[in-house]
Amino acid sequence: MRIAFQKAHFLLSVASVKQLPPDTGAEIAFAGRSNAGKSSALNTLTQQKSLARTSKTPGRTQLINFFEIDNDRRLVDLPGYGYAKVPEAQKQKWQALIDAYFRKRESLVGLVLLMDIRHPLKPFDEQVIAWAKSCSLPLHILLTKSDKLKYGAAKKTLDEVKRALPSELISVQLFSSLKKTGLDECEQVLSSWMCSNRLGG
Ligand code: GDP
Repeated sequence: MRIAFQKAHFLLSVASVKQLPPDTGAEIAFAGRSNAGKSSALNTLTQQKSLARTSKTPGRTQLINFFEIDNDRRLVDLPGYGYAKVPEAQKQKWQALIDAYFRKRESLVGLVLLMDIRHPLKPFDEQVIAWAKSCSLPLHILLTKSDKLKYGAAKKTLDEVKRALPSELISVQLFSSLKKTGLDECEQVLSSWMCSNRLGG
C-alpha cells in the first residue's frame, strides 16, 4: 500500500513534549543539519511547493512541526541544526526536546535522516544515528542533493555510508529533490513503516 503523502497539511508546532498531539497511529520524523535539504525533501515527498516553509518561519525553526496525512498518520519535521553559531544553551534545549520526543513517542515508527551527499556523517548525524540505535528505531538515510555529484561519485559515497553503518535497522539511498531521484524508493520505505502491524496493515 502506498501512503497518500500529498494529503499532508500543517497540524501544529510544539516547543515541549507536553504539547505533543495524541500519541496514536503512526508518525515518521525527519532530522537533518540546517541546509541538508530537509524542507525540499518534505515538499518533494508531499508534492507541495511550500509545505515545509512553515518550519522555516521565524519562531518555528526550533520547534517540532507536525504535518497530518490522515487521522492515523503524521510527518514530523524536527528542528534543523548545525550552524556553529547556535548558542550552547539553545543546543542543549533542542537536544533535551528531541531526546524526550524519541524516548516517549509510541507512535514514532521510523526516522528519516537527511545528509547532504557532499558532507555526510557529521557529528550531529552521528548523534541522531546513536539515538535511533539506542531506541531501536528504524532509520532511513537520504543522501540529498545527489544531483550535485556525478553518478559514480554519488554511488561511491552511498557505498561508503552503507559500510559505515552496518545495521538491519538502517537503510540508505540517494535522493535529489531537484531531479526527483530516489523519490519512489523513499515513498516505499516510508509507506511500509506506516502500514506496519500497529495499524493493522
Ligand atoms: P533545509 O535547511 O534542510 O530545510 O534545506 P532546504 O530544503 O531549504 O535546502 C537548502 C538548500 O539546498 C536550498 O538552497 C535548496 O535549493 C538546496 N537544495 C535542496 N535540495 C536540493 C537538491 O535536490 N538538489 C540541489 N541541487 N539543491 C538542493
